[in-house]
Amino acid sequence: MKMGPIMPFAAQACPRLSVVVPCHNEEAVLEMLEKRLSAACTDVFGEDHEIILVNDGSKDRTWPVICDLVKRNPRILGVDLSRNHGHQLAVTAGLQVSRGALVMMIDADLQDPPELLGAMVARIEQGYDVVYGQRIRRHGESAFKRGSASLFYKLLNRLADHEIPLDTGDFRLMTRRVVDQLNAMPERFRFIRGMVSWIGFEQTAIEYERDPRAAGETHYPLTRMIRLALDAITSFSTLPLRMASHLGMVMGLIGFAMLGWAIFRWFQDGTIVGWTSTVAVVLIMGSVQLFILGVFGDYLGRLYLENKRRPLFIVREMRSQTGAAGRVPASAMPAVPVDVHG
Ligand code: UDP
Ligand code: MG
Repeated sequence: MKMGPIMPFAAQACPRLSVVVPCHNEEAVLEMLEKRLSAACTDVFGEDHEIILVNDGSKDRTWPVICDLVKRNPRILGVDLSRNHGHQLAVTAGLQVSRGALVMMIDADLQDPPELLGAMVARIEQGYDVVYGQRIRRHGESAFKRGSASLFYKLLNRLADHEIPLDTGDFRLMTRRVVDQLNAMPERFRFIRGMVSWIGFEQTAIEYERDPRAAGETHYPLTRMIRLALDAITSFSTLPLRMASHLGMVMGLIGFAMLGWAIFRWFQDGTIVGWTSTVAVVLIMGSVQLFILGVFGDYLGRLYLENKRRPLFIVREMRSQTGAAGRVPASAMPAVPVDVHG
């Protein structure tokens, strides 16, 4: 492969910072993102950084826009996934590709201010391995979204065996050793902020106010949020599996109480209570059993899918001004790597 005179990726095989940005239908914000993010990175690290834009199966012009940005900015590396793999897997792809000594994860929609980079780096220099953004206020998000998010974090912390910090997103800065650990974790159902807190080392929060989306629409409507919540809970807790015995005990107690009551009534006036209570018991027991069966089924299904050991994502193409071959394992990039020089 012939190399040009400027070799940001080859010469600086390990830049001081990689920024990973998952992009799904983000054509409206990318230009603005590139300006602000590039400025923030240059402020702190000068040229010594790379920005990895992962196109997660967008239906709009996101990929062509990324290709244009690659032509203009030698620090940008574009990664095009073969289809929509979902936010967490798009981030995973970016992390696998990244080479930086520090790695920042940030959403494309500028809800999280890239200008916080400097403050985050200062914390890393104090000896922390992970600095995550914690939202003190969310502008432009509905009361429902705020309420459901807060409920979700409370529930998760009840269920998970280790603490997952409240009100954080994926916006964070991590050291290479944390990213390497994360990349070594093979699971398919990924809840990255939980996995990072599981990894440990020294972690700290930095507070900020979350802005409304710069443009475009949220990709996390209620159904997707519920799916992420289920991934989070099942990845970090087996408590739902043990729920069967807890519920069984409670229902048993209620059953005994009702039995006592029925016997009492039988002695009192010689009648047994009518079918309403019987029907109620049958219905309740039936639905509880089906629910528990569903929970078991959910874990079993995940076990099955994990067991296939498929690659977590597939890359169609990567673009940078100087090529980026060899950054993705062959299993995730089946064809001969297409390095199209911008
Ligand atoms: N995203 C993605 N794949 C998806 C959905 C979302 O890569 O299938 C990206 C999206 O482009 C954005 C980030 O994930 O950069 C967070 O999505 P969004 O802003 O819609 O979520 P919200 O902030 O509303 O929770
Ligand atoms: Mg957003």
